[in-house]
Amino acid sequence: MIMCTAIKKVSRRCKYAVLIGLLLSVLAWKASFTGDRNGTIDENFVTTQTPVKEDKLTDELNSRIAEPSHSNVSAEKDECPEESPLLVGASKLTFESSLNLKDVEKENKVVTKGEYEPSDCTARHSVAILIPHRNRERHLLYLLHHLHPFLQRQQLHYAIYVIHQAGDATFNRAKLLNVGYLEAIKDFSWDCFIFHDVDLVPENDHNLYICDQQPKHLVVGRNVTGYKLRYKGYFGGVTAMTKDQFFQVNGFSNNYWGWGGEDDDLRVRVEQQKMKIVRPPANVARYTMVFHKRDTGNQVNKNRMRLLGQTTKKWRVDGLNSCVYDTLSVGRYPLYVNITVNIGQPQS
Ligand code: BGC
Repeated sequence: MIMCTAIKKVSRRCKYAVLIGLLLSVLAWKASFTGDRNGTIDENFVTTQTPVKEDKLTDELNSRIAEPSHSNVSAEKDECPEESPLLVGASKLTFESSLNLKDVEKENKVVTKGEYEPSDCTARHSVAILIPHRNRERHLLYLLHHLHPFLQRQQLHYAIYVIHQAGDATFNRAKLLNVGYLEAIKDFSWDCFIFHDVDLVPENDHNLYICDQQPKHLVVGRNVTGYKLRYKGYFGGVTAMTKDQFFQVNGFSNNYWGWGGEDDDLRVRVEQQKMKIVRPPANVARYTMVFHKRDTGNQVNKNRMRLLGQTTKKWRVDGLNSCVYDTLSVGRYPLYVNITVNIGQPQS
């Protein structure tokens, strides 16, 4: 009898245990549906993913976070090497009469509105090339044809500005270069400026279009003068100065109308500031000058020696800080920025 009562008690307890067990499993099953919904994991992210290892998951997450909010954010690139591997040295220059602007544009699709930067590395230098110009379309074409690939081989971030003197007053190369500098710095904080004659084409890409600690003169030799430096203080044709060096000398004088003297005046300014002109080796600083007759509207400046005598007194008040001009148009063409400007005329 006692035995029978004991068996009944145990079986009742088992029933309760089974019931409690069942209840607990139902609760646990429910909790598995509701728990994650209140958590922090992105629902879509979880449901669209197949299970992946933890490091893969981190990558996936990071790639979502790093996604740029606008398209023109460029990916991090390494700095370009100190010496470009693309340099080829001396090139044989050609000046085909059949060449036209469309051909040069086609050859330089990588250039946008006159500007270029390497796609595979971050350029070490940002350089603005300033070319004073009037009625020299053919020369400009030859220069663009050679200069664009030349600068790209040097892995530079660069832009070419052509400063076009409007009207038929006597040409003023120096004032146009001041205008180029003042206008180009509105676009970008260029660290180096190359003041470039339209008729001089560089022959060797080891002649680097970058600035130095000191103002740099790039034309040691030209084909027309037997590749010899014209005279010891010659500072014409193509020169390179940093933004600060040029600012320090107050730029060029604005008062040299016609041919000659303005480059000597710049040399005097540079020397006055105790800067020293440097030059690349003669075997690379070589140029071909494209033949031309003396332009009308650019007669020899008979006043140049008199003006030169006044440079040390006048440089502070004649230069970038007194350069008055009227910009008539800024055209952003595929291969260059064209600034057409009214710079006035000589005071008689
Ligand atoms: C002129 C310079 C010119 C140089 C070379 C000098 O007499 O003053 O402006 O660049 O000759 O032609």
